[in-house]
Amino acid sequence: MFKIKNLEVSLNKKNILNKIDLSIKKNETHVLIGQNGAGKSTLAQSIMGNPNYLVKGEIIFDSHDLLKLDPQQRAGLGIFLSFQQVLEIPGVKIYDYLRLLYKKSHEQRLTPLKFKAFLKEKMDLLNFDAEFLTRYLNCGFSGGEKKKMEILQMLVLEPKLIILDEIDSGLDIDAIETVAKAINFLKKEKQSSILLITHYSRILNFIDINQVHLLDKGKIMANGDASLAKQIESQGFAAFLKEQI
Ligand code: ADP
Ligand code: MG
Repeated sequence: MFKIKNLEVSLNKKNILNKIDLSIKKNETHVLIGQNGAGKSTLAQSIMGNPNYLVKGEIIFDSHDLLKLDPQQRAGLGIFLSFQQVLEIPGVKIYDYLRLLYKKSHEQRLTPLKFKAFLKEKMDLLNFDAEFLTRYLNCGFSGGEKKKMEILQMLVLEPKLIILDEIDSGLDIDAIETVAKAINFLKKEKQSSILLITHYSRILNFIDINQVHLLDKGKIMANGDASLAKQIESQGFAAFLKEQI
C-alpha cells in the first residue's frame, strides 16, 4: 500500500538520505527511530513533497507515484503529516476550519448536527473542551494544546497514512497516552497505516507496533519488531550501532 524504494534525498546539494527501502501495509504501524540529525524529518518531508528536497527513487502510495504529485495532491490521497511548528491563525475559528477540512477530505456530506456529533466524539477522546471550537486556530495555545490540535485535525481527516514526526516530544505522560488513544482509534475504526517518528520509546507502551526501523546518518541500520526499540533504549544508540558494524 505504501512503498519506498531506493530513496535518495539531498538538500542544498548535501546528501541526507541513502538507499532507503520501507513498506507499510494497510493498518500496520511502523516506528522510525534515530538520533537527532539522522534524517527522520527529511524522510517525512520527502514523503509529503516538501519542494526544498531533491528526491530520487520511488515512493508509491495506493499505486500512485507520489514523486509526480504536489503536497496538496498527496494530502488529497489521504496522507497526513503532523507539523512540528504549527501556525497561529487569528480570524479562523477552529470549528469552521475543521468543518472545511472534513468537507475537503470526505465525499460524504454531514448535516451540521451530525458533524457536531462526529466532532464531539473526537474532542472527548482528546479531552478537549467544547469551548475550544469557538477559539482561533492555535492562538494562545500551550505547546501541548497545539499538539492535541494537530491530532484533532488528524481525527477529522481520517487519513489512510499518518506520519507523526516527534508528536510525543515535550508532552507529559498523560498527553502521550491521549495521543496514543487517538492513533489507536484511527487504527481500529479506519484501518489507517502509521509511521511514527520518535526518539523516545514511551509512546510505544501504548501502541501496538508491527515494525521498528533504526535510521542513522541517513541509512536504515536495523529493522525489527517492538523489542528492537526496547533494546536500543536500554543499550543507547551509540552502543547499539557499534554492534551493527
Ligand atoms: P532528524 O529529524 O532525524 O533530527 P533531519 O532530517 O532534521 O534529522 O536532518 C537530517 C540532516 O540534514 C542533518 O544532518 C541536518 O543537519 C541536515 N539539515 C537539515 N536542514 C538543513 C539545511 N537547511 N541545510 C543543510 N542541512 C540541513
Ligand atoms: Mg526531526
